[in-house]
Formats: sequence, structure tokens, C-alpha cells
Amino acid sequence: MIKPELLAPAGNFEKLQAALIYGADAVYFGGKNFSLRAFGDNFTREEILKAVEFTHARGKKIYAAVNIFAHNADLNALADYLSFLAGAGVDAVLISDLGVLSLARETNLKIHVSTQANVTNSAAAKFFHELGASRIVLARELTREEILAIKNSCAAELEIFVHGAMCISYSGRCWLSKFLTGRDANSGACTHSCRWKYNLVEETRPNEFFPVGEDERGSYVMNSKDLCLLPHLDKVIQSGVASLKIEGRMKSVNYVAGVVKVYRAAIDSYFDNPNDFKIRDEWRAELDKVAHRPYTTGFFLGDGRSTEIYSTSKPSRASEFLGIVRAFDAATMTATIEQRGKFEVGQRVEFFQPHGKTFSQTITSMRDENDLEIFSAPHAQQLVKISVDEPAEIWSLMRS
Ligand code: SF4
Repeated sequence: MIKPELLAPAGNFEKLQAALIYGADAVYFGGKNFSLRAFGDNFTREEILKAVEFTHARGKKIYAAVNIFAHNADLNALADYLSFLAGAGVDAVLISDLGVLSLARETNLKIHVSTQANVTNSAAAKFFHELGASRIVLARELTREEILAIKNSCAAELEIFVHGAMCISYSGRCWLSKFLTGRDANSGACTHSCRWKYNLVEETRPNEFFPVGEDERGSYVMNSKDLCLLPHLDKVIQSGVASLKIEGRMKSVNYVAGVVKVYRAAIDSYFDNPNDFKIRDEWRAELDKVAHRPYTTGFFLGDGRSTEIYSTSKPSRASEFLGIVRAFDAATMTATIEQRGKFEVGQRVEFFQPHGKTFSQTITSMRDENDLEIFSAPHAQQLVKISVDEPAEIWSLMRS
């Protein structure tokens, strides 16, 4: 059985670094235009070149999302962008629109069909393969049996989502946001209108809101839970898909690092001993520490009915991300932290490491870059030295 690739979101260069350092085999990103996360940080051309270099230096792969549904006005700039991506050496482009696919075929780029194209059957997968796609990212709305059937009848590589947010509609093929706000999900500008709280209003009483009360829990009638296939990872791997994808280009560094490390450990553990594969409590605990809505297995097991959460649209509170370890001096047991959240002497923190075990301690002393004693670190990106109880790996995340 082939070990599937673990594919992680790279919303910006720092998240790309975190994803690769914490164990992803490949990352996907969007440029400033033409990807479906118009409000993410996204990558300039200069950053794309830097990202390709960083990724390839580690022997890993990098894919560019070019998955908007294009209009004629986009075509010239798209052709230019695709030719830039080919020259930059990205390993593949993710495409939904047949016009964009035809432009990509004029380059030497490998083509992956985005989940936005909603491939739900073998005929569609085979057709995209005939058109030149080497990989199909299947629609999230498929059962395990359907995935197996497509795998058995199509020579293209398959990729499926294993973790992250879902849409109430077929992955972004939705007009709700455009209708309510003018921002188009199909051009990467979704306002997540499905997560809003809706009421009924009678037209002659515009300021009176009547709850859409299916029951006493609330009225977030279109709010999807988050996908998590970790508990069924063995079945996912046995389905023979080539790539396991984590959603979340808009999510935090803490989220990317945490989720990637869990799936990395779980995939490796399965291949170390498939007959004795068990989901470890520490993996579940880590996935509970990142911001998320209640988890669901989505459509994978065939029911697809417990995918909504009606009572709130807010994700759970995550552990707070305080800083990144940029240097460690073993002689003095001092870690230099690049600050991201407020912290102070006396605070209890934990260090989440790329490879080693997570450890907790209380901050007993802090010094600034000039070695002056300080008691709190209020400035973003300030470098702060603190004494650590255990050796801390570079790129460990300090969290509350
Ligand atoms: S509004 Fe919701 S369902 Fe529609 S594209 Fe956005 S996230 Fe998906």
C-alpha cells in the first residue's frame, strides 16, 4: 500500500514553514489573485519563488490554487500567471474551471482538479484525467464506498479532505454570500454567510425578529461542523487515495502546526504497524486544542446527516498562541521567543514542538534583546529570552 501524502494549507510564508516543519509532505497556497481565498494573506510572486525554494530544499511539494471560476476579463492575466507558476517550478496547479485548465495545458504544469469542480463520480474523474489532470481532489460529499469505486475505475491520483471546515453547499458552489453581500464565493471572496444567525421578519414590522426556532438550541440553520476523519484514518488510508488534505488557508500557525503534527504521527503510526493501529488520546487532545467547531465524519461513513451545528457558529476557544522559539542556548537553557501574544512572568505556558513531546512550565524570568530584565512582553514580534525547564526545539510554539 502506498503511503499517502499529507497535504497542508499555507495561508502565508510562515504557515508554509510551520506546515513543512511539523511534518506535511506538501503544501498548497494561493497567489494574490485567482485562488478561492481572496481575503487570506496570499503570496506575491516574490514570495512564491521563496516558498518554492524553501519547500523543494526539504524535498517536499508545493501546489498553487488557481481555482476561481474565471470570467473573460481574467484570461490574459491568468495565462501570464500560469506561465509564471510554471517558470517558478511549482509542482502542480489546482484548477476548477475548464477554461483555466485549457490555459494550464499550454504550460508544462501538472494539473490537479480542485474540489471546487465537484467530482462526485468515476465518469467525471476519468474525463478530467483524459483532459490532462494527473490528480482529482474529490468532492467532500462522497462516502468511502464511492471513493473506492472511483479509485478502482480511474487511473488519476485521488485526493480527499480529511480535516477542516466544510460548506453547507457543494464546497463553495454557492451563491449565498454573493446574494447577501456582493462578495462571490466562486471568486474567493466568501463571507461565510451560512454561519450567520438568521431570523424571520414579517414585512410590515421590519425591526421585529422572530427566531427560526427548530428547537430551543438556536437557529444557525446552515452552519456546518468541521470535518475530522482521524478516528477512521485506517479506512481512509486503505481506500488508496494518494493525498490527504487539511483545509484551512485562513487558519492560524498554531492550527496548522497542531493538525499537521497529529496527522503526521497518525499516518506514520499506521504504516509502522497497520495491524495494531489505534487512535491515541494525545492526538485527540491536540485536535481539541485548536479552534474548531464540533467535529463530524461528514459523508465518509455514509450518513452525512450529523454535519450541522445549530446552537452557535463560533468555533471553540483554542489554546492561545504566544510565540515561536527562534533560538535555544543549551548551556544556559535559554529560549529566544519571537512574541505573538501577551505573556508575563509567573504565567503557565506549554511548548508544542515539531518533533519532541510537549512540555509545560511557569515563566520564571524574562529578558529583552538587550538582556534587560522585563516582566511582560506586550509588543508584537518582540524577541524575548526566557529560561526553559527542558530543551526547546527551534520552531516550537509557546502557547497558554
Ligand atoms: S456561504 Fe457558506 S456554504 Fe456558501 S460558499 Fe461560503 S462557506 Fe460555503
